[in-house]
Amino acid sequence: MQRQKIIIEGIVQGVGFRPFVYQLAERFGLTGSVCNDSRGVTIEVEGKAGVLHQFVAAVRSEKPPLSVIQSLDTQEISVQGSIGFKILQSSVDETRRAQIAPDTFVCDDCLKELFDPDDRRYHYPFINCTNCGPRYTIVTGIPYDRPLTTMADFPLCDNCQAEYDDPISRRFHAQPNACPVCGPQLQLLASNGQPVAIEDPLSEAIRRLKKGQVLAIKGLGGYHLAVDAGNQKAVLELRRRKQRDEKPFALMAGNLEAVRRIAHVGDDEARLLLGVERPIVLLQKKADHKLAESISPANRYFGVMLPYTPLHFLLLQDGFEALVMTSANLSDEPIAFEDDEACQRLGAIAEAFLIHNRRIHTRTDDSIARVMADRPLLLRRSRGFVPRAVAFSVESRPILAVGAELKNTICLTRGDRAFLSQHVGDLKNLEVYDSFKQTINHLQSILEVRPERIAHDLHPDYYSTRYALEESGLPTVAVQHHHAHLASCLAEHGVEEPAIGVIFDGIGYGADGNLWGGEFLVGDLNGYQRVGHFRYQPMPGGDLATKEPWRMALSYLLSIYGEIPESVKIFDGIAANELRLVAQATMKGINAPLASSCGRLFDAVAALLDLRQTVSFEGQAAMQLEMVADPAQPQPYPYLLSHADDLIIFDPQPLVEDIVSDLEAGASTAKIAGRFHGSLAGMIEDVCSQIRQQSGLSLVVLSGGVFQNCLLTEMALECLNKSDFKVLTHSLVPPNDGGISLGQAVVAAHQ
Ligand code: ZN
Ligand code: ZN
Ligand code: FE
Repeated sequence: MQRQKIIIEGIVQGVGFRPFVYQLAERFGLTGSVCNDSRGVTIEVEGKAGVLHQFVAAVRSEKPPLSVIQSLDTQEISVQGSIGFKILQSSVDETRRAQIAPDTFVCDDCLKELFDPDDRRYHYPFINCTNCGPRYTIVTGIPYDRPLTTMADFPLCDNCQAEYDDPISRRFHAQPNACPVCGPQLQLLASNGQPVAIEDPLSEAIRRLKKGQVLAIKGLGGYHLAVDAGNQKAVLELRRRKQRDEKPFALMAGNLEAVRRIAHVGDDEARLLLGVERPIVLLQKKADHKLAESISPANRYFGVMLPYTPLHFLLLQDGFEALVMTSANLSDEPIAFEDDEACQRLGAIAEAFLIHNRRIHTRTDDSIARVMADRPLLLRRSRGFVPRAVAFSVESRPILAVGAELKNTICLTRGDRAFLSQHVGDLKNLEVYDSFKQTINHLQSILEVRPERIAHDLHPDYYSTRYALEESGLPTVAVQHHHAHLASCLAEHGVEEPAIGVIFDGIGYGADGNLWGGEFLVGDLNGYQRVGHFRYQPMPGGDLATKEPWRMALSYLLSIYGEIPESVKIFDGIAANELRLVAQATMKGINAPLASSCGRLFDAVAALLDLRQTVSFEGQAAMQLEMVADPAQPQPYPYLLSHADDLIIFDPQPLVEDIVSDLEAGASTAKIAGRFHGSLAGMIEDVCSQIRQQSGLSLVVLSGGVFQNCLLTEMALECLNKSDFKVLTHSLVPPNDGGISLGQAVVAAHQ
């Protein structure tokens, strides 16, 4: 006989861990107890040594789907001759440091009940259990207990209470437990916010969607705008009402088979789609899909997710090939999540609102993922992933990192864990900025952490920087933008050693006061050195150049030819007066800050190919360039690498010249775009080889928003692998500015 104490840390509370342990102990015939405590779960088990061993193995291999075991320690203690196995009550104090689980899609057991006419929760849109349902979005404070969730509004009925109290029920301590008798209810509102008197809001909502109406539907972390994705007129109408917004609409399809009818789904993609986090997954469209073209115009991809709440399953069960389910917001505003606010903001867009009375406490957007180079890559880490801890190799005093300005996220550290927030958005928008501050407060309160230092970007005008310097009252640590990108990728891989950082993005504030964005660094989590970069190029109009790619095309043409070559016709749509003024100012260096940006070179090439002269969101032109590129045309254009002050300077002048003559010769857009990608990939390998000679390093990190580009990333990987580099790319943390806060935190922790 032996007795073991097993201490488990991670996400092990509020996810059905204790009933799981209880049933496992019964199965193995072991005695003892299980309880929640400050770090996680502690188990004591007594029995034959061999059986104890099997028990521990089964804890690891059969753990509940939502749980994450970060560590499991066993120690032998003295045998007590205990009888039976008990679930011990934990005191409030003990559960305070527990980690709250992310929101999770409705599990198979609950789905069975949802569609079982004999079940008391038949067709009940808020069915959940300890293995599934809302978590992060409904938590108002800690400990994670019903009174501190938005389910506090719903006292449990006797049946639900009995399940909640029964250690072997799969709803034991399921805080959001509910049924049609005691739980939240659906309601249908007209566009003016008045309730529609109707027996069955769900059927009415489905009927209206089938008629082609736009519905605002309250989800887990916010509202979606929904239309029938097969109805071209309805999709176009939604696009018209959302104004100026050209972003692709996300889709929700009923099941994997339905997804396969509209898009190509590989094994890795299927795993992402079916994962408990249920992100939006970017998938290549099938040529014969029957959906509206305006869902993602000029784009080879659909963003598709599977249903994740019971309500979604009910909506999609009859008749829709897919629904458009796009975040309910106008351009740069945050996603609507409060009922009054949603009705006000969306009244002009939606004909009706399908809402319910379970409040959303924390706004959380859908996550977005794709498969790149055979690995999953998160482009937006949000609902389903937050607030799961991410890798952090160092134990440090608590740090708050406030991230970048676009695609903002924040990061809070506790001990040796880092907690990355949900996607916050573009801080220039006032409501997003409010949401940024709320997120900081909320994460601090649910993690019970008071940060002692605050890490921020070098850019003095970022709202996040200003918050750090002016409002936080904490000692500050400034972290250069591209160093943060590099550090976020190293941290994700748990790598402490130095690496060559190939950091390509739009714009980040450089240590020399210029704008950086095509950078070669050598560095680790402690520091970095800039060893190479794109040639500095004037950005006519500053920020405006980001919205109007023609300005970057103009900038390159002027610096190469001193004028616009006659063969280039792309400026016909620009007013002659404006064009002349911008050209003059750029030649004189007025209102044309210097940038070594890779993203802006993508913009210039996209404009030269006349793909886009203006964009409605950053990176749109670059995205289109990737979409049109023919991957079978990697033959590189020439470029120059020069050396100045120990820096390698990449000069794309010969490349731009050849593109102009290719255009004159009538070469296809696909071919030019393909060759452009190939040139950058070859250049990356070229520069890294030179850096390796100097530094002896052969570990390369690819990070920055440009590496959301699948074609470039895969081409660069191929070139680098051929030259025996070891390459780290992102997977769990976005390569774009959504990952900056993690990088800032890890750099600050090392200082
Ligand atoms: Zn469930
Ligand atoms: Zn009930
Ligand atoms: Fe960046």
